[in-house]
Amino acid sequence: MHQGTMKAWLDSSHLSGANSTYVEEMYEAYQDDPSSVTDDWRAVFDNLPVVNGSAIDAPEAAHSKVRDYFRSLALDTRRGGASRVSDPELDAKQVKVLQMINAHRFRGHQNANLDPLGLWKREPVKELNPAFHGLDADDMDREFNTGSFAHGGETMKLSELINALKATYCGSIGAEYMHITDTEEKRWIQQRLEPTMGKAQLSKEEKTRILEGLNAAEGMEKYLGAKFPGAKRFSLEGGDALVPMMREILYQAGEAGTKEIVIGMAHRGRLNLLVNVLGKRPGELFDEFAGKHKAELGSGDVKYHQGFSSDFETPGGNLHLALAFNPSHLEIVNPVVMGSVRARQDRRQCDTGLQVMPITIHGDSAITGQGIVQETFNMSQTRGFKIGGSIRIVVNNQVGFTTSLHQDVRSTEYCTDIAKMVQAPIFHVNADDPEAVAFVSRLAVDYRNTFRRDVVIDLVCYRRHGHNEADEPSATQPLMYAKIKKHPTPRKLYADQLIAEGSLGADDVTGMINDYREALDQGECVVKEWRPMTLHSVDWSPFIGHDWDVAYEPTLPMERLQSLASRLTDVPESHKLQSRVAKLYKDRSAMASGEKLLDWGFAETLAYATILEDKKRVRITGQDSGRGTFFHRHAVLHNQNDGTTYLPLRNVADEQGPIDITDSVLSEASVLAFEYGYATAEPGGLTIWEAQFGDFVNCAQVVIDQFVSSGEQKWGRLCGLTMLLPHGYEGQGPEHSSARLERFLQLCADHNMQVCVPSTPAQVYHMLRRQVVRPMRRPLIVMSPKSLLRHPLAVSSMEELANGTFQNVISEIDEQDPSKVDRVVFCSGKVYFELLERRRKEGLNNIAIVRVEQLYPFPHAEMDAELEKYQHVKEFVWCQEEPQNQGAWYCSQHHFWTAIPKGATLTYAGREASAAPACGYPELHNMQQQQLVNDALNLK
Ligand code: AMP
Repeated sequence: MHQGTMKAWLDSSHLSGANSTYVEEMYEAYQDDPSSVTDDWRAVFDNLPVVNGSAIDAPEAAHSKVRDYFRSLALDTRRGGASRVSDPELDAKQVKVLQMINAHRFRGHQNANLDPLGLWKREPVKELNPAFHGLDADDMDREFNTGSFAHGGETMKLSELINALKATYCGSIGAEYMHITDTEEKRWIQQRLEPTMGKAQLSKEEKTRILEGLNAAEGMEKYLGAKFPGAKRFSLEGGDALVPMMREILYQAGEAGTKEIVIGMAHRGRLNLLVNVLGKRPGELFDEFAGKHKAELGSGDVKYHQGFSSDFETPGGNLHLALAFNPSHLEIVNPVVMGSVRARQDRRQCDTGLQVMPITIHGDSAITGQGIVQETFNMSQTRGFKIGGSIRIVVNNQVGFTTSLHQDVRSTEYCTDIAKMVQAPIFHVNADDPEAVAFVSRLAVDYRNTFRRDVVIDLVCYRRHGHNEADEPSATQPLMYAKIKKHPTPRKLYADQLIAEGSLGADDVTGMINDYREALDQGECVVKEWRPMTLHSVDWSPFIGHDWDVAYEPTLPMERLQSLASRLTDVPESHKLQSRVAKLYKDRSAMASGEKLLDWGFAETLAYATILEDKKRVRITGQDSGRGTFFHRHAVLHNQNDGTTYLPLRNVADEQGPIDITDSVLSEASVLAFEYGYATAEPGGLTIWEAQFGDFVNCAQVVIDQFVSSGEQKWGRLCGLTMLLPHGYEGQGPEHSSARLERFLQLCADHNMQVCVPSTPAQVYHMLRRQVVRPMRRPLIVMSPKSLLRHPLAVSSMEELANGTFQNVISEIDEQDPSKVDRVVFCSGKVYFELLERRRKEGLNNIAIVRVEQLYPFPHAEMDAELEKYQHVKEFVWCQEEPQNQGAWYCSQHHFWTAIPKGATLTYAGREASAAPACGYPELHNMQQQQLVNDALNLK
């Protein structure tokens, strides 16, 4: 603050007498914690000038200097004759009034009226009591400056000020936002909360709309309860306000120009939202209760996991709504939703995130218990994953299944405390006050759209029944349920309020109940804003109904490839490369001109270039994806002079598809889930998640089990996600050898995903292109190599790229007379090269080595064709590096048995069964490796 401005401020703030003791006190508080003083004072202290050559806030001289400084200001003011006569006692009280305002902003939520059941036991916050600040009955009629409190005029009677503070901060809304460091954001929230004291200004129509929402929420549950007694529906009752809340959010979002909303939620209230917000036909839901199913939807899922898509009309325009399918594992759907939102924003080229908004709905135990919540918050502002903020709603019914005691569920005050890690504002709201709920709903949408950051609504409610409808809650929560039994429903409370204030008549309310029940009887859509879907911008039909072996055109003209190769190696001279990277790019230039054979990194990059040239999108995320964990990719080039980056892949054609290669946050579960969400919303391009080391994929197991491997079977949702998982036994110990191939193979059935182990650059090129060029969209799991990235034999020609295709099975490559072969070794991955080198070294021409590059779906036709020439052979061997209980042996051997000639045997050459994926001693590793190669080649 400029000195002149500061004087002006002091003049106007009842402190022109420079009550130095109080200023000093405040300064002390500021030094302890800058956020403990009001913004005005902080601004003063932040801007204290240098006095007598040293900073005024130097600790040793701080107090005397600050006191002298304010004295001098006061003196100057007096000399100028502008000052009023100061009253030190009043000035002291003024400071305390400002502190009390601040205390309400900071801690009002702790004494707000949030729990509809009134069971929360919260200590009165002393700082919210005027007496704590030395303000007594005599002060109540005095006028005080209200500082930045955005209600009333510049001054207010203390009694009125206290009423306004209580109404704003200790009523049905508990606003937690003072942890935000950005002053503009805090001011913005204050400007929204304080002028109206957190009260929504609602028209009669809007009030009726809210009651209709509550009426529908309650009516639906009662109807289901009567029609299907005891059936699990995870009733919303107690949290009924969720329905009007969602509708308010949709209206507000539509007004703001949102085009699509993706919603993720767990079970509770899901059926209610499906029918009352998304517009699912009740008749369809009743059919599901009756056990009917749609044969075309694979094995299906229970009704409270089902997703839904529809359009919703708002005065601001139509919204497309997509409720994500989700498994029972709570919270994991959140990063999936965020990924889906990012894909839609990318498609709309919407950098602000305004056109597509995510809403995630959480349970109070899950949001605080599940680490994925932290992971998702952590992604929210990062380059590769940000989506302009999300709206997160907690249906806080104060109980998780049967566990409700605070000390059992969490170690934080609120279930929402995790959101403070991203400084999200948190609005706790009493669900029995639906107008307050409407107020925070609108506020949340506007906050998200203004600041493009996450915002949380903690809908404090209760659960009228047990965890599900077959559950008896009073066994574990006797007092709570005794209270709930007597507690009127939210609909009844609000209807009574509207009748009492004259907004509606009792007949209107009864009519509303009857109309809704009749609508359910009809079984047709009950959401009047529902519109048939017209907005979705992706057509999935070209991708439906194909299997992995669908025909496609794999070849490309050689000139096209060569031209792409040369553009990929064309780095501006001003972009100074690190010496090893420069060497790698020099080698790539030689590969582009045909002087050298292609290595892995270049063939992989060329695959991306061809996809981009076709104007399709490529997205790659992983912990070191730009460079590649093993220094092979170098898709993002870092200028050694100024740190800027250059992506050759962004410059492959004048008009090309977009490419994002982003180093991800250090998480597997949330990033893989995000990419799954992305790929299920973006069928056109190539979406890749890469693990830093293959074994880390186990941290994302829930995503693999419950989405990647089974999403199509359960929900009919296609997903072309590619997972690159470094795998290979190179003596790196138990944690960096295996991507747990066996786990993926064990999940394979119904051609749900492809598991590939490519062994050459040409193979990786064709495998990646095939994933996009073919119209089939199913996950591709790749055991990707480490040492093969630089193996002298793992090279390919440009010709193999241009005119080849992905070979699911690769024949023996050495010239051999098949009739002399008496042993065939099958293998996958890098062990192939060890077998090949050893066989060549030993001069064995009776052994053929056949590579299986796609382990699932097993390529029976190709294998049969390959084995035609070995029908006389009796000895077939499967060779693997993994221990016997791991790798492909147990999951895939039945495929080999069906492929080999009748009467032949199939034996195993590999490591012995082991609890750990690999040993930790290099010497032992080498012995084992040698042994398994010997075993495969029948050597001693
Ligand atoms: P959404 O935009 O997610 O609401 O999807 C709109 C419609 O597109 C859905 O109703 C489906 O018919 C179709 N669709 C969306 N995603 C997929 C997917 N991953 N697989 C197959 N069809 C999809």
